[in-house]
Amino acid sequence: MSTTPLNTTKSEEIFAVAQTLMPGGVSSPVRAFKSVGGQPIVFDRVQGAYIWDVDGNQYIDYVGTWGPAICGHAHPEVIESLQAALEKGTSFGAPSVLENVLAEMVIDAVPSIQMVRFVNSGTEACMAVLRLMRAFTEREKVIKFEGCYHGHADMFLVKAGSGVATLGLPDSPGVPKAVTSSTLTAPFNDLEAVKALFAEHPGEISGVILEPVVGNAGFIPPDAGFLEGLRVITKENGALLVFDEVMTGFRIAYGGAQEKFGVTPDLTTLGKVIGGGLPVGAYGGRRDIMAMVAPAGPMYQAGTLSGNPLAMTAGIKTLELLQKPGTYEYLDKITKKLSEGFLKIAQETGHAACGGYISAMFGSFFTKGPVHNYEDAKKSDLSKFSRFHRGMLEHGIYLAPSQFEAGFTSLAHTEADIDKTLAAAKAVLSSL
Ligand SMILES: *Cc1c(COP(=O)(O)O)cnc(C)c1O
Repeated sequence: MSTTPLNTTKSEEIFAVAQTLMPGGVSSPVRAFKSVGGQPIVFDRVQGAYIWDVDGNQYIDYVGTWGPAICGHAHPEVIESLQAALEKGTSFGAPSVLENVLAEMVIDAVPSIQMVRFVNSGTEACMAVLRLMRAFTEREKVIKFEGCYHGHADMFLVKAGSGVATLGLPDSPGVPKAVTSSTLTAPFNDLEAVKALFAEHPGEISGVILEPVVGNAGFIPPDAGFLEGLRVITKENGALLVFDEVMTGFRIAYGGAQEKFGVTPDLTTLGKVIGGGLPVGAYGGRRDIMAMVAPAGPMYQAGTLSGNPLAMTAGIKTLELLQKPGTYEYLDKITKKLSEGFLKIAQETGHAACGGYISAMFGSFFTKGPVHNYEDAKKSDLSKFSRFHRGMLEHGIYLAPSQFEAGFTSLAHTEADIDKTLAAAKAVLSSL
């Protein structure tokens, strides 16, 4: 295992230029490594569980392009099907049978989804689903949870997770108060707070949206009974329950968190995995609600590139690969080994830590825990996390450059990769 300092000369040169061309040098904030310090690594290529930077360093990757790469990067079968699709053109802007195929796969897999609309990102899916919640219920308010991230649309930039949490940003400037005044927030895992909001705003709340397993404030699973409780409260109040499964969909189980926990929401958003690494998002749910969406109904939502044939192709192939027997058992096995191995090493090296995993999603915090919500997550020792992150990078392990992001494993990660990662963690934690 290399302990010489990383040579990242070319990464630094390229990033220096990038900073003169693009705000912060990046196309999305967390990529800039601001919260962990140091310079971001500039990638050259990805394959399986690995990434290579422009200086030729190889890393075991636990970011997986923020979730899509559940079969491993550049899976040969995904690439092959994309090459064939490419020959037929890159965009039709018209119906294609590929949309039917992916729609059927999504409807078969996800318990709440009877009809689906494809869009181009998770952000778009969440924007549209909120419009649909409002259109269907004829109510304007929505409840979200602190630390949950539903993309960067105005009405969700209230106590948001992901980059907003990573950078410690206050609610973003440029977001009109009139828009966010309809967004009510509660701590995750707090049913009483949700009940109180419904009591304070009778007949005004269209529904509750959440990450059923939080990944954008670090990894925070729902307490026993939390999802079930939300199902009951929303029903009692004539409001909708929406699972944002952009991250968890097809990741913590083939049918997402709703399959895993046996709680069926009214509507669901998807993204990440269902695009197989190409830009995609989707929202879907009960047929009577989806019937509101134009052109079937009056709620407008559209997209030039929506249902893009390349994105549909990569999504279809990725879901086909996930359907193979043993997929989720394997993901569970390696992620368990990683998560439990890490916590054991932390204990042995005298670092307070807590964490967990579900299938191919995991996370830990440098605090003794337990972590039930974003307030708890913020108790993590962020300076220690930064040093840990840097140390792991030097040992060839690429982790999300933020305490407030979940980690991801893939079908391409081997037991040997996990062993190497744990050996690195032991070396780094012993040195902190
Ligand atoms: C990533 C993510 C989004 C936003 O998706 P983009 O494709 O980045 O716009 C929304 N919700 C959740 C839960 C996410 O993890």
